[in-house]
Amino acid sequence: MTHIVCSHCGTTNRNPDGRDLASGKCGKCGRQLFEGQPVDVSGAILEKHIAKSDIPVLVEVWAPWCGPCKVMGPQFEAAAKQAEPGLRFVKLNSDDNQALSTRLGIRGIPTMIMFKHRKEVARVSGAMSSSDILKWASAQ
Ligand SMILES: [Zn+2]
Repeated sequence: MTHIVCSHCGTTNRNPDGRDLASGKCGKCGRQLFEGQPVDVSGAILEKHIAKSDIPVLVEVWAPWCGPCKVMGPQFEAAAKQAEPGLRFVKLNSDDNQALSTRLGIRGIPTMIMFKHRKEVARVSGAMSSSDILKWASAQ
């Protein structure tokens, strides 16, 4: 049994072992649990991912005015296409979620943070290519 949080509504879905995660749909809102691209989530939904997800969660903290974030965005998407559903990719707009960004101790953007089993295990700042993102993520 794997617990997967829906990026759209924040519901925790229970996925029986052996059922294909890639095609799974949320029991509440009916959206795909994995779309092969990172969803821009609210702070509340990011906290649900961190608290409930059985798969590692990789969040990119970004903002619309940030030049390096514009470089990083498509790379992060390309990495998500390859690595989901083994990893959950989400984005957090730091302008819209200032309280949570402060709580996470974000000093510069873009910053990627990996969470495993409710704990931060690694973070890195600065724009990266999709292959470097995947290399970094698999080393954690
Ligand atoms: Zn949902």
